[in-house]
Amino acid sequence: MVKVRFAPSPTGYLHIGGGRAALFNWLYARGQEGVFVLRIEDTDRQRSKQEFVDEILDSMRWLGLTWDEIYYQSQRFDIYRQYAQQLLAAGNAYEENGAILFKTPAKEIKFFDLIRGEIVFDTGNFVAYQEGADPAAGTEAPGLKDEVLIKADGSPVYSFACVVDDALMEITHVIRGEDHISNTPKQLLLYEALGFKPPKFAHMPLIMGEDGGRLSKRTGAVAVTDYRRMGFLPEAMVNYLMLLSWSPGGDQEIIALDAAVKKFTLKKVNKASAVFSMEKLRWINGEYIKKYDAEKLADMAVPFLREAGLIAGTVDREKIKAIVELYRSRMPTLADLSARAGFLFKNDFAIDPELKAKHFKPEYAKTFSEFSERLRQAPAFDATTVEKVFRKAVEDMGLKMSDIVHPCRVALTGSDVGPGLFETMAVLGQEKTIARLLRSII
Ligand code: GLU
Repeated sequence: MVKVRFAPSPTGYLHIGGGRAALFNWLYARGQEGVFVLRIEDTDRQRSKQEFVDEILDSMRWLGLTWDEIYYQSQRFDIYRQYAQQLLAAGNAYEENGAILFKTPAKEIKFFDLIRGEIVFDTGNFVAYQEGADPAAGTEAPGLKDEVLIKADGSPVYSFACVVDDALMEITHVIRGEDHISNTPKQLLLYEALGFKPPKFAHMPLIMGEDGGRLSKRTGAVAVTDYRRMGFLPEAMVNYLMLLSWSPGGDQEIIALDAAVKKFTLKKVNKASAVFSMEKLRWINGEYIKKYDAEKLADMAVPFLREAGLIAGTVDREKIKAIVELYRSRMPTLADLSARAGFLFKNDFAIDPELKAKHFKPEYAKTFSEFSERLRQAPAFDATTVEKVFRKAVEDMGLKMSDIVHPCRVALTGSDVGPGLFETMAVLGQEKTIARLLRSII
């Protein structure tokens, strides 16, 4: 049975790279009907923080990446010591200044990476390269010198705890970032010394910023939780994380998690580094928003509207739902809703003098007051009825629809771009629509 693990160190928040590692492990586990283990690698007592553990768990739950088992390495120090003792007893390790070190044997190490193919480590010059490639162009591995297994303070080092746990937890596939390729040879030597069968390895490519450099704050390297705060939906977020190094095939880009589970294979994960694009993420998010369940979307929008100071106290859910409907095709994120639809909540927005000069003509005073009168007498105030009343008024006054739509929109919304005029009127309601038409002509 397949058993994989995501093994974050809680020395920081869950970032894009970590989110993708968690996701790919989860996809593989679910697709193979295997087990997904979450292992908190909190061996560094100084740098590990509970706050980060909480945030990592929270982000994973938000992304929908549920785990079947969870372990904390800080609770397993006795186990690591026991295996270090075993190496000492067998003469494979020695003590120095209270620390336990591994006697690294010198040999060539080869392993087959499920994403990258055969990888050979030449211990002579400590360079890793793929078969057929020039060793000189390989990834530098840290020298295979004698490695500390357990520090003098009793805490295990990453590679040792990782190997002991991956073996004891019966992990079948280690799926992790390419930055760990260089750790793999020493881990393989540890498997051998401990008499454990190594798992299969799959190293995912790096994620770069659009500037071609390492992912930085500016190019998108912020915590998953920050994307949540920016108004991204979890479904869109996992969809985007998937596309960083994997494709469902053809030119399909929108794929739900359960559909991806059925299609995901490690073989199809790209070798080339992925580039994080905020624009693409926003596009995907917008696509999800367009089709999202209205009730859920309204619930999700509420905290954003509150935060922007547009609503307070008890919420008129029907109104929020109507607003979300009005904007769902033009809001890439939930935060964009508050930025764009503020006029629906606030009466006191100012109309840009330039827009006024461009769209308002003196004769509109009469036009707007006639519209107001007609709208006051409208039998109902849904978009269809309002449109009928409005079109009739336009016709009776001998105007052209195309001439008057923009001025009306500016009067009602403060902007000459936005959703359909009649839908906007219906959401604004009769009273506000009339008041704004009249106000704009004073
Ligand atoms: N704790 C390691 C990290 O966060 C895990 C690496 C691994 O998956 O082996 O990078």
